[in-house]
Amino acid sequence: MFRKILIANRGEIACRVIDTARAMGVRVVAVYSDADAGARHVQMADEAVHIGGAAPKESYLRGEAIIEAARATGAEAVHPGYGFLSENPDFVEAVEAAGLVFIGPSAEAIRAMGLKDAAKALMEEAGVPVVPGYHGEAQDDLATRAGEIGYPVLIKAVAGGGGKGMRRVDRAEDFADALASAQGEAATAFGNDAVLIEKYVSTPRHIEVQVFGDGEKAVHLFERDCSLQRRHQKVIEEAPAPGMTEEMRAAMGQAAVRAAEAIGYKGAGTVEFIVDASDGLRADRFYFMEMNTRLQVEHPVTEAITGVDLVEWQLRVAAGEPLPKAQDDLSIQGHAFEARLYAEDVPKGFLPATGTLTHLAFPAGVRADTGVREGDEISPWYDPMIAKLITHGATREIALAKLEQALAHTQVAGSVTNLAFLRALARHEGFGRGEVDTGLIDREVEALSVAPVPCSRCRAVAAVGAMEMDADVVQGFSLWAPLEHSVTLAFEGEPELLKVSVEGEGRATVVSDAATHEVTWGAVGWAVDGTPVPAEVVRHDAGLSVFWGNNYHFTLPDPLDVSTGPGASAGQVVAPMPGLVKAVFVKAGAEVAAGDRLAVLEAMKMEHVLTAGRDGKVAEVLAEAGAQVEAGAALIVLEEEG
Ligand code: ADP
Repeated sequence: MFRKILIANRGEIACRVIDTARAMGVRVVAVYSDADAGARHVQMADEAVHIGGAAPKESYLRGEAIIEAARATGAEAVHPGYGFLSENPDFVEAVEAAGLVFIGPSAEAIRAMGLKDAAKALMEEAGVPVVPGYHGEAQDDLATRAGEIGYPVLIKAVAGGGGKGMRRVDRAEDFADALASAQGEAATAFGNDAVLIEKYVSTPRHIEVQVFGDGEKAVHLFERDCSLQRRHQKVIEEAPAPGMTEEMRAAMGQAAVRAAEAIGYKGAGTVEFIVDASDGLRADRFYFMEMNTRLQVEHPVTEAITGVDLVEWQLRVAAGEPLPKAQDDLSIQGHAFEARLYAEDVPKGFLPATGTLTHLAFPAGVRADTGVREGDEISPWYDPMIAKLITHGATREIALAKLEQALAHTQVAGSVTNLAFLRALARHEGFGRGEVDTGLIDREVEALSVAPVPCSRCRAVAAVGAMEMDADVVQGFSLWAPLEHSVTLAFEGEPELLKVSVEGEGRATVVSDAATHEVTWGAVGWAVDGTPVPAEVVRHDAGLSVFWGNNYHFTLPDPLDVSTGPGASAGQVVAPMPGLVKAVFVKAGAEVAAGDRLAVLEAMKMEHVLTAGRDGKVAEVLAEAGAQVEAGAALIVLEEEG
């Protein structure tokens, strides 16, 4: 076995590989870009080498820099993860030329599957069923070909990936436009505008088979169903495929093994099939689409049902060991799901988002593969995936219920996410029955994308949370009566004023324009109007979040916050309106930080917390508790800055 390997990747997959390497006693070298100097994968690794700028082409795509890092650190092998250089045959050759082991297939095998048209021709020869269509070299007269195949057809870039350069065409009159746009996109994305044409399979399901080869022989580790897609991108994956028959599983497994053996495949790979499910799953209705010559994002569902650690297998086979198990020793235990948690704005058309994760927590007992920690940034440089949540159960129903609960208890603040969308999918009735096809999400995207809005009970809890977590104010509360406090909460930028009247320890009445609620809190949790509720409240740098089935994020604008007013810059805290000073929390000489609570003013029957506008030392306190003050009166003066 290797003593030390280098991981030519970042994010969750780098962390995932480190976990297994560590468990095998293999030391790990990470590489990182400017943007990732403090990233989780760098922290986890034994050593880390800086390889360049934030843009992938300045770092994670710089093969020579990565090979140089491996040499400099004495790593013996390179694990490519997925994406970046993982399917680049030139990189594989360069790694090998440097005397290092590439943990993956040969450059030749990658090339054989690199272009969709050549791969289809090769598979046809190997007796693997392919989608009816045209994948010849000639690119003239494609419209005639499409007509012969029969509409609807799918135009695909031969160099394609990630759904790019792909267009579905339903009618002959739309063909020319679709072709031009597919070619344009392909030229830009892949520098190759050649396309192929396929029959568009009706009621399509995406079912792929995990294979593993030793360079000659291969085994398969059963199928994954990745039919829940949006714009040809996978959203939730599962294994095994719902409705799969033993006959079809055997046929697909054998076809996948034939595909892998036809190219002398070594390592982990995936053979993707499109299945015509218009008539249920039938052993004669699956067609080869492409082979991904690397570890897939969704590999954990296969690990969950087979008990195999695919990264361990990758390292062992790359180190020269035989395949760890024979086909007959592999079997399926139960069912597994994976959901991809992304920083993206679903109601805004799944717009990728960025942000600092001011709070991040995953439920216990669920596999969460992630490359980020609380406080980390989702930057615009890389894929905005936050984590993959994987659940496993004895049956599909149990595994799906666990997924739904895992999503309900995942807490992310600081960026918008697709959590609510994923949870809506996990609760979708048709999906629950296993009725999946690649069009499901598109057909129902509107209902699935509805952003949850906090009810008045949730807002009441948030208001108490905002007040309760302010230790100074709470202490102050026990001293003053009437114990009334006003809280302004903004949800999606919409401010709402709530009045919180503390009735006793852990008990308050919250009044808003919409409703009045009795809220209690304490060691046993929250209750609203006498009913316990499973809410959790977290205060963080971006505001306050209530986690209650969904994630509800509030900001806490203080409409009367004078810290940003003119007095603040002058180092003064002034009364924003006439009122009674209820408490002063500082004395002359005290060091304060921007945002610290300095005093409480009661005005118009509400209490207003006055905060420091900047860091500094208190020069003078001009008002005592109990004093009646005029609007604009200076209450506290800070020393001059200098
Ligand atoms: P890419 O490499 O760009 O991801 P694929 O060939 O893997 O492209 O196809 C992506 C997705 O497009 C598939 O998962 C499937 O949902 C859909 N698809 C591909 N080929 C067909 C087809 N012939 N008929 C219907 N849907 C298809």
